[in-house]
Amino acid sequence: MQPLTAEAFVRVMDAYAQVLAEFRDVLNELDNRIGDGDHGTNMARGFSAVAEKLKASQPTTPAAGCQTVAMTLLGTVGGASGPLYSTAFLKLSAAWNGRADVDEEALRGGVAAALEGIMARGRAAVGDKTMVDVWTAVQRELQTEQPLDAQRAVEAAAAAALATKPLTARKGRAAYLGDRSQGTVDPGSLSSALWFAELFAAMSEGVVKPQWDLSAL
Ligand code: ADP
Ligand code: MG
Repeated sequence: MQPLTAEAFVRVMDAYAQVLAEFRDVLNELDNRIGDGDHGTNMARGFSAVAEKLKASQPTTPAAGCQTVAMTLLGTVGGASGPLYSTAFLKLSAAWNGRADVDEEALRGGVAAALEGIMARGRAAVGDKTMVDVWTAVQRELQTEQPLDAQRAVEAAAAAALATKPLTARKGRAAYLGDRSQGTVDPGSLSSALWFAELFAAMSEGVVKPQWDLSAL
């Protein structure tokens, strides 16, 4: 794994904003089936603002970049996912404070802190069919695989997103549907898996990003 510099962090967020624009309708459709249909619009809008802000501010550390992400999301993404992603990036920022770049150990600490923050804020546990499922899968890879196999981590994140499909949602809007939330991949889990694919691809050469079979979501 190559340590993630501030410049690389900005590139990751820029690439993620583009991926979200591509997946906007897919994420909206998933959220339409088990929520209110806005997850794609929320995320594409928020992270496009993030990419602009980062390009304009040119952070000198990944921590400073994460701080900008967190603040921008608070102002641009409402709903459940805005505060949750904002919390995640705030925790990453705190964990990486004072570092010029993020190596594997820093990533391990950062993801653990971010997951803790998401869980504290949203009160969801693993298996509740939320983004927590994907962050937990990545955290497990970071804890058990040392050195980390970035390809495995990307695949674990994608598999965790797909594994939300048969689950009954126990948190968020989808929980109102009860068992009728079964049969649809959780949109926040997909958006999280898409972020980890960009992050790990930037930290490790040769990572192959998942090919999503849209008809299977
Ligand atoms: P909203 O549900 O307010 O419309 P979004 O549609 O943008 O917000 O985001 C929905 C996503 O947020 C879900 O797919 C899920 O992954 C995540 N989410 C919702 N509630 C929680 C929670 N309590 N804890 C963790 N993640 C949650
Ligand atoms: Mg929604």
